[in-house]
Parts: sequence; C-alpha cells; structure tokens
Amino acid sequence: MKLLSLSILTLLFTGCAMDSQNKPMQKEQHSIPVVMFQTVDEKKAILLQDGKDHRYCVRCGMDLVKFYKTSHAAEHDGKQHQYCSIHCLEDHLGEGVTLKNPQVVAVDTLKFISVVDAFYVVGSKKKGTMSKVSKYAFSSLEEAKKFQAEFGGEIMNFSGASKKAKEDFQYYK
Ligand SMILES: [Zn+2]
Repeated sequence: MKLLSLSILTLLFTGCAMDSQNKPMQKEQHSIPVVMFQTVDEKKAILLQDGKDHRYCVRCGMDLVKFYKTSHAAEHDGKQHQYCSIHCLEDHLGEGVTLKNPQVVAVDTLKFISVVDAFYVVGSKKKGTMSKVSKYAFSSLEEAKKFQAEFGGEIMNFSGASKKAKEDFQYYK
C-alpha cells in the first residue's frame, strides 16, 4: 500500500512539474502571495492580549499579525487591549473610555513603544490600515525621516496623528 501511494504521489508531482513548465507564467501568478507592508512574520509579532482571540483587533477583529506595523495597544479596565491601528484605538476612545499606557509598534524595531515617544509619518504612499491616510510610527526622528524621504508624508507626534485619525470618523456622523 505504501509503495503504491508513493508511486502515485511521484506521478502527481511529476505531472505538476511538467504542467508548471508548460505554463510558467500562470503558475507563478498563483503562487505569489499578496504581502502587505503592514504584515510581519508571525514569529516577530508581539501579541499582548490574553485569550483565544488574542491575535485579533479588539475592535474590528482584523488579524494583528497581518496589520502588525500599525498595531497599537492600551490597558482598559485592567486588561491589555491590542488594536490593528490608531483608527481602532480612536474608535474605542470615542466611547469615552480611559485607556492607560497607550503604545504603538515602531516600524523600524517592530517593538512596542509608548505613543508619546513615537514619531508618526502621516499620509505617506504606503497604504494605511482602516484609513485612506496611512499612519506609521517610528522609534526615532531619524528613522521617520528616512521613511519620509522614500515614501513621503508628514512627521507628527501622537496627538497630531490622533487628530488625523479622528478625521476619518467625521464621515460617519
Ligand atoms: Zn481594528
């Protein structure tokens, strides 16, 4: 039985290989995954929440590994919350809650830093998360400037970036 299934497998693989040689372009297009700028390797992502849904934004449910480079975090009612973006953090604040120790992932280090220490590049050519105007945070002004030189945008502190994020909520009112 084992031998038989092995030879079937070999046949299948040979078949595939021949097929991909015949139509290389088509095969390649199917095998290239769409990787977004926000996405990181799962091993590099720091997930701060507890429970079975720890990998998902507490507000919108989006995958935090997929949208890691725009991820934010804060404590609410003694629990660590993680958000896909400053948009979802602002969405939560809009309910009038108090969030302690707000943090953001720095694109240059992939580590969480306090939002007050972050340099945000707002409105660069890199796509945003939950917003047409992207907002990416960096651990130093130098790193933010490097990113800005390549992709444009405006360098702001957290309160400037928050203000921009809040503008997106105007459409819904
Ligand atoms: Zn979200």
